Amino acid sequence: MRLFDSHCHIDDPCFNDDFEEMLTRADEAGIHAMMIAGVTLATSKKAVELAKDRSNLFTAVGIHPHDARDCSNETMTALKLLAENPCVRAWGEVGLDFNRMHSPANVQEQWLEAQMAAADELGLPLIFHERDSEGRFLQVLESFSFKKNQGVVHCFSGTKAEMFRYLDLGFHIGITGILTIKQRGEQLRELATLIPKDRILIETDAPYLTPAPQKNKVRRNEPAFVRLVMERLAEIRGEDVETLSETIWENTCKLFNVDL
Ligand SMILES: [Zn+2]
Ligand SMILES: [Zn+2]
Repeated sequence: MRLFDSHCHIDDPCFNDDFEEMLTRADEAGIHAMMIAGVTLATSKKAVELAKDRSNLFTAVGIHPHDARDCSNETMTALKLLAENPCVRAWGEVGLDFNRMHSPANVQEQWLEAQMAAADELGLPLIFHERDSEGRFLQVLESFSFKKNQGVVHCFSGTKAEMFRYLDLGFHIGITGILTIKQRGEQLRELATLIPKDRILIETDAPYLTPAPQKNKVRRNEPAFVRLVMERLAEIRGEDVETLSETIWENTCKLFNVDL
């Protein structure tokens, strides 16, 4: 089985002490590639540093909606320059997060649109983050004229109607370890059976969202655990895990323009 963790933050300092061991554990669990999502200019730079000499690590550059208030035209110029690095295969994570409101809504929207335009211009797929935007995020997506609609709604947490609107727009759906959590994952398990096979990605969002049953043992999530997401996904869809994992591997490689 070859698996692609389509969204992780292994640049997080919590991996500093055992970075190589963490990569070995991932390899042993069949995780043959990882996409590190950017959150700020600094994390995007660190991700590129980590990935540039490793053939199975890829990165996205971008400013998270929480950090939108710190974005500027200078930041955008620096991100575009960083995106010239061959390990950069996506732009993100970008979006709207009205749950904690670390940045004002209008500022989040301003930089979401600027980043969508930049990614579209560079031909990079987008990694979207949406939380509690009450439909506003989809309105922004639907009114934007992309040259090419390519991207993934990572850590999908919306409704059935929202999921189908993302799919209609041509985007992929990213499934995290929430799928494995007893109560919190109930709705996601229902919706995950309805996504066309060729539009699913799996992810850890490590170090966050540790899947069950690992979460009872360790707090920190890591790419090796995406295997638990894969196994649960195949189980609830009633599909063969080998076949489904190969399809998801291919979806991810195609979206991120990766040839491994
Ligand atoms: Zn996110
Ligand atoms: Zn993330």
